[in-house]
Amino acid sequence: MSLATAARLLFRHPPRVRTLASSSSRASPPHRARFLNGRRIAAVGLASGALYGASLFAPPAILHADGDKPDGVVSQRTQSRSDLPLSALIRTYVVYSLCSIPALVDWSPTILSTLLAVPGVKQITETVVRYTFFNQFVGGDSAEEALPVLEQLRAENKGVLFVYSVEVDEQAPGSAKPMPLSAHKQIVDETLHCLDVAADFEDKHASANGGKGTWVAIKLSAMVPDAEALRRLSKYLVDTRPATTPRIAFPGCPRASDLDILSARTPTGSLTEADIAALRELREDLHTICERARARGIRITVDAEHSWYQPAIDAFTLDMMRTFNKLPTPAKRSWFGSRRSEEASTTGVQPLIYNTYQGYLRRTPEYLAQSIADARAEGYALGVKLVRGAYHPHEIEVHKAATASRMEATTPSGTHELSISPDNMPPVWLSKDETDTCYDTSVKALIALIREDVDKCAKGAPGPAIGALFGTHNWDSANLVVDELVKQGLASTDPSGSVWISDAAMQRVAVAQLYGMSDALTDHLVGRTRSTSPFVLKYLPYGSLREVMPYLSRRAIENKSVLGNGGAASERRRAASQIMARLSGQS
Ligand SMILES: Cc1cc2nc3c(=O)[nH]c(=O)nc-3n(C[C@H](O)[C@H](O)[C@H](O)COP(=O)(O)OP(=O)(O)OC[C@H]3O[C@@H](n4cnc5c(N)ncnc54)[C@H](O)[C@@H]3O)c2cc1C
Repeated sequence: MSLATAARLLFRHPPRVRTLASSSSRASPPHRARFLNGRRIAAVGLASGALYGASLFAPPAILHADGDKPDGVVSQRTQSRSDLPLSALIRTYVVYSLCSIPALVDWSPTILSTLLAVPGVKQITETVVRYTFFNQFVGGDSAEEALPVLEQLRAENKGVLFVYSVEVDEQAPGSAKPMPLSAHKQIVDETLHCLDVAADFEDKHASANGGKGTWVAIKLSAMVPDAEALRRLSKYLVDTRPATTPRIAFPGCPRASDLDILSARTPTGSLTEADIAALRELREDLHTICERARARGIRITVDAEHSWYQPAIDAFTLDMMRTFNKLPTPAKRSWFGSRRSEEASTTGVQPLIYNTYQGYLRRTPEYLAQSIADARAEGYALGVKLVRGAYHPHEIEVHKAATASRMEATTPSGTHELSISPDNMPPVWLSKDETDTCYDTSVKALIALIREDVDKCAKGAPGPAIGALFGTHNWDSANLVVDELVKQGLASTDPSGSVWISDAAMQRVAVAQLYGMSDALTDHLVGRTRSTSPFVLKYLPYGSLREVMPYLSRRAIENKSVLGNGGAASERRRAASQIMARLSGQS
């Protein structure tokens, strides 16, 4: 079975209610399927233990499992990889070897359920997973334990998008136990702690230009007792939002009035009283998180999830941006005709809050344009994290099921119920080329906008009024970001070919990859650029092994496009050649 098939298996049933077995507000598979998914990875780990026992006791370290670089691309920075202990290289080889054996992944649930039936094997399984997948993709069991990883990354001029990675599992209808009410509050509390650890780290590593290389990511569906409340709010918003011109495809575009419903005293539409209470509490919790972020000067990104949660997620994120990204009023002309800059009077980091835009959504071009217009009209800074999007196969599957159920009115309950889209077309593009074009066009538009913003601020406008974080493992898109910065005069190339990113651009732009993945690209970007604070970040999750198991499962699903299609094999070959070089004394 390929990783893509694994993804389809995992997302076969619709989610309903969650327990804090784990994570992901993603509408994902029912509890059992997800648990099997976690077990699948564990089983893969177990098999790896048998095959590669030598790697099991490798210490946690920063991994550089590089994929092959495209022709003509030469990384200027290989130092960090050659510093790795041999044991870490072997572990990298093990993890990517396992990811590239479809049959092993395919059979792992069976292997696992057999092994788990043997007393004492559970502990062995956990040990194997810890020393393989956990150490590859996760920073540590706690924020403090992840600090050595932050330190080492910073020593390589890499920043971190730090995230407490507990997500919430969803279960099939009727099979769920209610989630302990305090579980989502614990996630909120840990997020506040995550912010403090990030800020303390930044205080210690303050850069000359005040740039901060540690950001914090949050996932809204993990912060409510039941993610269905977000889906029901989304449905309500889709049904009641005022239309925009031009029309924006599902999941639409948030409006300032979206959260007015939270003041309602009686249940409205399919929203229950409990939903309204939970969503009100979420809004308060988010404001507490944003206040802490503002006080400590740490940027927040809000993860994008499945399209049926997005209207609600966008509404809350807009609410946060309107409050916490607010810019001072424009500077007035002085008596002497010159403009008084108010940029200096802007306290803290701007933009503070970033929403995530998924390039695979059809709505993205119009949505981005509308977001820019809204931010300008209302005087707040727009924070954009641009990714391609992680849930393409599931979005297509749910749309197909919904279309089929519309045609056959008798379809029993199932996947189609997740869809809340009124559109006939699926919310996502059907071809990879369309997603690529959408992503790259957005990159160009955002960087052109950043150029404009730098010019406006130089003339006294308050700002920065726009910021962009480009999350991608795609070499062409990542290089496009750097090329566009040069083209727009926000960076310059020296005779050696190094690209110097200006401080004005550094305030507004960063690039990121997931920790444990595409380190060749990360190193290439760090090597190609020069900056006074980290321009390239790694998305670094932390949490206990049990908590992050769903995140580990998700790495196989969300990144099958990266690890699949030969990606895992490339990463494995890269690790193998480094091991050989090390053993033969060449590095
Ligand atoms: C720092 C960071 C943060 C992230 N945060 C989020 C997040 O908040 N929400 C989220 O959803 N994802 C998030 N991701 C995951 C991101 O969406 C995946 O990395 C991305 O899907 C992989 O795309 P790529 O740009 O790396 O490159 P590529 O490998 O070039 O692109 C693969 C992507 O193309 C798209 N695609 C593939 N086939 C098709 C097709 N037939 N039709 C249309 N499109 C297709 C899919 O989006 C697929 O994932 C994040 C990634 C990073 C690095």
